[in-house]
Parts: sequence; structure tokens; C-alpha cells
Amino acid sequence: MKIKKGIPLIDQHDKSGFYGGKFGGNYVAETLKKPIDDLTKLFEQYRNDKNFLKERDGLYESYVGKPTRFIKLQNLTDHLGGAQIYAKMVSDANGGAHKIYNAITHAMLCKRAKKKYICTDTGAGYNGKMFSMVAKKFGLGCKVFMGTRDIERQKPNCDAIRKNGADIVPVNSGSKTLVDAVSECIRYWVSNCDKVHMGIGSLVGPNIFVKICGWSTAQISRELKIQLEEEFGEIPNKLKLINCVGGGSSAYGFWSEFFDYNKNQVELIGVEAGGPKNSKLHAAPLSKNSKIGVLHGAAAYCIQNSDGQINETESISSGLDYPSVSPIHCLLKDSGRARYVYATDEEALNAFKLVTELEEISPSLEPAHAFAEAIKIAPKLDDSTTLIVDSCGDSLKDKDIIKKHLGSYRR
Ligand SMILES: *Cc1c(COP(=O)(O)O)cnc(C)c1O
Repeated sequence: MKIKKGIPLIDQHDKSGFYGGKFGGNYVAETLKKPIDDLTKLFEQYRNDKNFLKERDGLYESYVGKPTRFIKLQNLTDHLGGAQIYAKMVSDANGGAHKIYNAITHAMLCKRAKKKYICTDTGAGYNGKMFSMVAKKFGLGCKVFMGTRDIERQKPNCDAIRKNGADIVPVNSGSKTLVDAVSECIRYWVSNCDKVHMGIGSLVGPNIFVKICGWSTAQISRELKIQLEEEFGEIPNKLKLINCVGGGSSAYGFWSEFFDYNKNQVELIGVEAGGPKNSKLHAAPLSKNSKIGVLHGAAAYCIQNSDGQINETESISSGLDYPSVSPIHCLLKDSGRARYVYATDEEALNAFKLVTELEEISPSLEPAHAFAEAIKIAPKLDDSTTLIVDSCGDSLKDKDIIKKHLGSYRR
């Protein structure tokens, strides 16, 4: 399975939407074919449109805040005694995470489609929060589908969603988490697509949603590339880019400028949620070698039982608690371009603790998984290696969970 150079990875699918011939596609009900076609045409019409790009870049400048910081974590580097550790502070973005990039594109497309309503799913609550923010900004009605288990554990983001005037639709089916919220949101869209635009909060779903999301988060690595050139005068040799992977939108955005580099120069490491140390449950389809299944309109490695039923997942971080993963990450795994590992709940919490003790940053539990991997490998590497962790979310939303497990929370 080969990746082509010089072509964005989101566009390396066949005419049915499959990456590498087997991942992704459009496994949707007949009734969704037309809305998906319409959305595909809309996106293709605008993705290279000068005015569309000008408006987007203006929003990145004045609304998201650009660039997000690129900083050296000198205390962590000294403490671990090995590779040089840096962070890309994507949590600086308005709203506190990378989900804002995708939300902006969807709101702009919703406007161009002349629709007045937008709907989406959310797990950690960040995607819901960002959609509620852009909905308010663009004057759109907004519904956010969210599992009742996540509503309980991500209160700060729920408060933000409601404050922005959006409705949270509680989803009480299945595991009451992100997977069920996405299903319910797609179901709602099927019957309301003439008036309502749908955005999916990660690099998953039918092909067009994968493409829109990746196109949006790619801003992260455009910024990073410039920042690397400013800091080092070039793209350093022995660079490792570490990102947590739920659906995989932040990882795609963080890596997208670097796929064409040799993996010895720029290694891409994705960190999935390994779940509690002594549990069989996890949310790590790539690193725990799950089989290919179909979920939310796409074929991908998927946590399932021998009958192909989706299995329950478990992770301390709602944002990573998803049984499947982007078809693009399946391609990256099979092609060998990226490698995937997992961190357990305990490792993520310990990483949060160490990083916040030593540095003035406060990553949420999702990027804490990526920090856990950096902490594991940094001491084994020498100081000619550069590790960069995407700190893609702010911990404030996790304060209750962190307090419960670590006894205190400081930001
Ligand atoms: C949603 C979310 C994730 C997981 O989603 P990806 O699509 O894998 O990026 C990770 N971190 C944060 C902070 C999130 O909000």
C-alpha cells in the first residue's frame, strides 16, 4: 500500500472514496446519497475559491488566533535527559482545541448552502462547543448530539455549548458515548438534510466528511512547518511528531505537511487510548490490531466482536473513546508511514501530572496520551532527536476527572 507524493492524502482515494482500495468509502443509506453528493460538490466548488480562502484565513487570523505557539519544554527535556522536547500549543486556538478549524469550514459551507441550521456530534464536548461558537458567530441554529455518559463527565464544555445558545440532544442508546452520538446525528440528518447542514467532528464518516475535516486541520502543520524553519532554519533530521489519535483529525492536521518526508527524517507516531491498565476494554483499534469493519459510513479498523458487532470501548478521555478510526490512519498504518502505539489511562494521568508539574502548560487527557509516549521514548533517544507533541486540547474540561484521580487539579 503506497502513498503518493505531492498530493494531499485526503485526495488519495479512488472514485468510490476508498483509500488504499479498502479503507473509507460511503456505506450510507440510499437517502443520504444525494445530500452527500451535494455537499461534495459544494466543497469542491469552494475549497480553491479565492474569496472562500480569504474569508477562512481572515477567521484564522482574527478569530482562531494564528499561529498557535511552538514552544520548547526545557524542564521536561532536562528531567527526562534525552531527546529535545517541544510542544505545538494547538490548545491556544479559540475554544481550546483543534476542532475549531473543522467547525469553521462547516459553518462557511452551511452559509454557502443557504441553510440556517447546523448539527454535529460530540464526545469530549469540544466539537460541540466549537460548532456552538461558530453557529453563534454565523447566526445558525445548532444541535449537538452527545452521549449521556459524556454529558456527565464533560460538564464545562456542555455549559459552554448551552451558553452559546445551542441545543444538546442527549443520546441514551448503546454505550452512551461518542459512537452513539455520531449514529444519532447521522440519523437526524437523513430526515432533515434539506434544511440542516451536518458536520462530523473528526476525520471519520463518509468520504466527504473525512476530506473536509482533514482539509481544515491541515492549518496546524502549515503553521508548524514555518515555525520549524524559523527555529532550526530547516526541517530537522530525526524529528518525531507525536499526536493522540481518536478519530485522527488532529494527527492528520499535525502531520499533513510531512507525509512526503522519509520516515527516518520525520517519524509520525500516533497514540491511541489503551484504556484502564487492568481492563480488557480500550479504544485502540490500530495499535491493538483490530479487524476491518464498517462504522458510520466507512470501512476502517474497528473494535468488534467475532460477529462484527461494535464492542464497547473504555478510556479516561472522552475525545479518544471511539471504537473506529479514520480510513486515512488505516492507510498510514498499512503503508508503514506512521506507527501507532497506545497509552493507558494511568500513563496519561501520570503524564499530565509530570508535564504540569514541570511546565506552564496544561494538556487535556487526550494529548496527555501523546505526552505519555514522549515521556516513554525521550530518555532512550539522544539530544540530536527532536520530539514534538501536539498539545491539541486544554485540560480545563477534564478538571473533575483529574481531581478525582490525582486528588487535585491545577491548570
Ligand atoms: C476530539 C478530540 C480529540 C480526538 O479526536 P481526533 O480527531 O483524533 O483529533 C483529541 N483531543 C482533543 C482535545 C479533542 O477535543
